[in-house]
Amino acid sequence: LDEVMERTAADLVPNDLEAFWMPFTANRAFKKRPRLISRAKDMHYFAPDGRAVLDGTAGLWCTNAGHNRAPIVEAIRNAATELDFAPTFQYGHPTAFTLASRIADLAPAGLDHVFFCNSGSEAVDTALKIALAYQNVIGQGARTRLIGRERGYHGVGFGGISVGGIVPNRRAFGTLLAGVDHLPTTYDRAHQAFTKGEPAYGAHFADELERIVGLHDPSTIAAVIVEPMAGSTGVIPAPQGYLQRLRDICDKYGILLIFDEVITGFGRLGHAFAAERYGVTPDLITFAKGVTSGAVPMGGVLARSSIHDAFMRGPEHVIELFHGYTYSAHPLACAAGIATLDLYAKEDLFARARKIEPIWADAVMSLREQPGVLDIRTVGLTAGIDLAPKDGKPGVRGYQALETAFHDLGFMVRATGDTLALTPPLIISEDQIGELIEKTGKVIAATA
Ligand code: PLP
Repeated sequence: LDEVMERTAADLVPNDLEAFWMPFTANRAFKKRPRLISRAKDMHYFAPDGRAVLDGTAGLWCTNAGHNRAPIVEAIRNAATELDFAPTFQYGHPTAFTLASRIADLAPAGLDHVFFCNSGSEAVDTALKIALAYQNVIGQGARTRLIGRERGYHGVGFGGISVGGIVPNRRAFGTLLAGVDHLPTTYDRAHQAFTKGEPAYGAHFADELERIVGLHDPSTIAAVIVEPMAGSTGVIPAPQGYLQRLRDICDKYGILLIFDEVITGFGRLGHAFAAERYGVTPDLITFAKGVTSGAVPMGGVLARSSIHDAFMRGPEHVIELFHGYTYSAHPLACAAGIATLDLYAKEDLFARARKIEPIWADAVMSLREQPGVLDIRTVGLTAGIDLAPKDGKPGVRGYQALETAFHDLGFMVRATGDTLALTPPLIISEDQIGELIEKTGKVIAATA
């Protein structure tokens, strides 16, 4: 920390911000008043001038174990000196197999095989491709339709934006995948406002799958993909009983169920996977983010044995699935993953998230009297806060909240439109929860 404080702004501030075309960023506004981060430790980021910024978002919902944790840093360092890169096409390195078994051990029973990639978007496209290819190998090649959900976020690949349900992420990018349909969102403010955890209202939204099946015929549908908690569109927990109902309908018609657990995996909802929280086992689970606590890019897909095994036929010298990435199971990511899972286990962080969930939920709900708070949702260590737009201009208040939080109050919050999301690392202390909520209250008041 002392070292951080001693670094001067001059060392760390780039003098040309133009070349980097920043992702999902208002580039011109950012470059006029940059929010630069140069270091991190545990619950904090540090600006180039050494100013501490409390991390209310676990980076992008990924640094679940907190930042720059020594065992993870050390594992990456050691891996970098041992094996920089090895192909996983027709070759393999030990840590890839170790990490795959460790992840399968954490997953619901029956999900025993892991396909690695490098991000959540790749995980989603991989899962959709496995689902389609599986239907093919079992002689159901007419099942080519994929069903997503309105307000779903499944990354930014063409598969992910096709099944996703966020209009700006789709509208500029052409015709997308053919044959995709969408379930309705499970959010209904009139019946669900200010609910802690899973709302009692809304299981019936799953029945829309029956209507979609009726429209297209089950023999054309390969898979349904949903987030157990829709994160990016503002923290929308699944209504009670909803996921089980989806599972039942999928079983009835031979449709695969995919849970996109890129956010909900690795402790965010108090369990290794949300599938465990809900007692509903999908056929495929996508994961990323928390698998390495954000320290090295990695993603993957967990598959049921029956799906994996269906591919393991034919001549043994022939590749069974024509899919993979140069960096699938990169040695640095595998080392980071193993160290991260060790740390989660050692500090019992998933159970910790479960234990502090009620404290978290109460703290966040205390913001409901702040000006213009339309709804608050919480589940696991996650909260979404809908704010009334300012001057009838959607998004202005959300952006101002982000700026005020960073520059004036020293914390990081995510804003999607005028919805704020808080998703801190799972190591957050009760005092830090207090600090985060107090500061969020100030931001809400300041932007009203
Ligand atoms: N799926 C879900 C549910 C996500 O929340 C995200 C990212 O936030 C993704 C996929 C995409 O992950 P990535 O940004 O690593 O490609």
